[in-house]
Amino acid sequence: MPEKEELVEEEQVIEAQEEVKEVIKPGKERKPWLPKTKLGNRVLKGEYATIDDVLRTGELILEAGIVDYLVPDLKEEIIYIGGSPGKGGGSRRTATKRTARMHKSGRRFKLTALIVVGNENGVIGIGKASSREHRIALEKASEQSKINLIRVRRGCGSWECGCGGEHSVPFKSEGKYGSVHVRLIPAPKGVGIVANDTTKKILTLAGIKDIWVKTRGQTSTRQNLAYAVFDALKNLNTTKGEM
Ligand SMILES: [Zn+2]
Repeated sequence: MPEKEELVEEEQVIEAQEEVKEVIKPGKERKPWLPKTKLGNRVLKGEYATIDDVLRTGELILEAGIVDYLVPDLKEEIIYIGGSPGKGGGSRRTATKRTARMHKSGRRFKLTALIVVGNENGVIGIGKASSREHRIALEKASEQSKINLIRVRRGCGSWECGCGGEHSVPFKSEGKYGSVHVRLIPAPKGVGIVANDTTKKILTLAGIKDIWVKTRGQTSTRQNLAYAVFDALKNLNTTKGEM
């Protein structure tokens, strides 16, 4: 029965990964970090003072340890993508989303988690991962979010405000994911983040304090909404913007 053997092997791999994590776990518990990439080695040697210096190089961050090392105060938020949306808002949200796949040997379940990280000061990342175990899905998603890190261009694009600070975005920006469209609009000081909970979580982590957000499409699909917000933030870096 080759099927069964394959399954056992997979479980062993997961166990082995767990063991490695217990030993290394950079950042949080101040245990020694052993870089696995060239960039990681350069970071450990002190060639980059901040995560911005790394992101500016345009090099891909291939290990979460780099981010843990340079941004020890990184905050993490779970986007609750699981649970049944249900009718009339009586929904119960869970951290991970459970999906089933039919297989010769029966149904196979997998749990998917979505995590957003940020330093509340211009850096944000988003990551998604799946596993048969809830805890591992969350751990992997956390790692992915650090690998998928971007700088957020902030500013004061509000003509009512014009303070020249970094409390909002410098100009309007749009993002899209699936059916969800997101529009970020600069707001004057004191407005706060005018958006739904998921969007608010992400923009807070990015370090934006005042902003108007307009959305359309299936925003109850939080996964698509989160990625659309991330896309809009990413687009701030590439578009010149128009007022
Ligand atoms: Zn301002």
